[in-house]
Amino acid sequence: MTLAEQMDTVTGAAAGTVDRHATTETFESTDPATGAVVGVFPVHDAEAVRATVEHARPAAVAWAALGFDGRRQRLNAYRGYLARRMHELADLVHRENGKPHADAILEITLAIDHLAWAGAHARKTLGPRKVSAGMLAANHAAYLEYQPLGVIGVIGPWNYPVFTPMGSIAYALAAGNAVVFKPSEHTPAVGAWLAAAWRAAVPDAVDAFQVVTGFGDTGAALCRAGVGKLAFTGSAPTGRRVMAACAETLTPVLMELGGKDAMIVDDDADVAAAADAAVWGAMSNAGQTCIGIERVYATGAVYDRFVTEVTERVRELRAGSDDAATYGPMTMPSQADVVRRHVADAVASGGRVLAGGTVEGRYVAPTVLLDVPETSAAVREETFGPTLTISRVRDAEEALARTNANPHGLAGAVFSRSRERAMDLARRMRSGMTSVNSVLTFASVPALPFGGVGESGFGRIHGEDGLKEFTRAKAITRQRVPLPVNLMSFRRPAAAADALARVMGLVHGRHR
Ligand code: NDP
Repeated sequence: MTLAEQMDTVTGAAAGTVDRHATTETFESTDPATGAVVGVFPVHDAEAVRATVEHARPAAVAWAALGFDGRRQRLNAYRGYLARRMHELADLVHRENGKPHADAILEITLAIDHLAWAGAHARKTLGPRKVSAGMLAANHAAYLEYQPLGVIGVIGPWNYPVFTPMGSIAYALAAGNAVVFKPSEHTPAVGAWLAAAWRAAVPDAVDAFQVVTGFGDTGAALCRAGVGKLAFTGSAPTGRRVMAACAETLTPVLMELGGKDAMIVDDDADVAAAADAAVWGAMSNAGQTCIGIERVYATGAVYDRFVTEVTERVRELRAGSDDAATYGPMTMPSQADVVRRHVADAVASGGRVLAGGTVEGRYVAPTVLLDVPETSAAVREETFGPTLTISRVRDAEEALARTNANPHGLAGAVFSRSRERAMDLARRMRSGMTSVNSVLTFASVPALPFGGVGESGFGRIHGEDGLKEFTRAKAITRQRVPLPVNLMSFRRPAAAADALARVMGLVHGRHR
């Protein structure tokens, strides 16, 4: 099926919902580089969203009944489909989000790898198992299993329109849930393509993964539609609104929010490698990366060399939408305004612009800022642009203290040749993920959980924790043999409690 046919399928299927629920309003998604229309999508209202979730409920039951092997087989078919059509999907990501085709390929690769891992590890992580019943219930067998929640609502951002939502979708599906996904209004075509691909690859469970499109109101309606859990990825202000809406129905939430990730460059770091990683971590995807590096704290011993290395590398970068461009336009025009504001605030508060600092239309020049006070918006708030602040610190301890002083705590990086020192700093970094001597690597390790602390949210996608996130633990005991004395009966002998107290004294009483 060609891209055009896919999109027809997409709008046709969405229109099915539209017709059923009389939603006639539509919106366009556009190419951020050219303004060309990429697709036209329905604005699903609250009634349409609720109907989609109701439609997904029986699908969730049927999907769960397929069991781990049945689901794995279908998730494999899905990832096979995505892998075969990688260029087609990457082209759509490039057109709708603006990132270079090669970066879109990288993003899709990660999503496919997570799909494979989630399908392959769901049984081991979630399947029924016997656990020790302990002393007090020694005559019982005890069982634990992780059951699906039903229909999961997924609300995703536009910056990684495949990888980010798939971190919830793949794990929710592998755990036995159906999914209703609301992509960002800036990337509905990618979301709709993913759902169309599902229908093509998994024809016997088409309703297990559905998409609704629209603006914030559509997302808010999904929060109120009676889903078993709402997995939200986006900014903290929207996250607060999502939590408030979900609180009305006590719908549990997963919050994957923004970051202000730091890199610590210690005295003994490989400075060239650190600079290379910092520039990639800060500028790739035009800096629109939740786990992008936004601040660097380099010790006095390496600061000058680090700044020189960064300067050299930044000179090689160019924003644009042609094949040779290193990164694309800002996906949203308003994000360019945020960058402008942060650069202006940095300069007004005594910072220096080492490189860039200019914004032309939607293109932000690769920007490096020095000597920016910690109180400046450029250091405190998420910039989400191709910018980097570099600060000189006395030592790694000061770097860590400054890193941890930020209310965000998504991820970060440490560069040091000393394994022990680096691991110690990584452990003490107040973040959900840290990579040592590289950036962003944890996101490509499916076995590792992904999620933040503080303003960066809570809950985890990826890995075993990511599978469990979309389940409820179910505990069962089964009496194997009755005991001669049943303590939980009104007919227990009067002396039973004394006997129990004596046993407890023998077993636990010796501990001081
Ligand atoms: P937003 O918070 O603006 O939007 C996120 C999603 O929420 C969009 O689909 C949006 O829809 C939807 N939405 C908006 N209003 C509401 C509402 N009232 N109720 C329910 N849903 C609503 O974030 P962005 O799309 O701008 O994404 C960028 C942010 O995402 C950054 O802060 C970034 O750091 C963070 N992020 C975090 C990641 C993580 O894993 N921790 C990964 C990737 C990004 P619409 O677009 O239609 O308005």
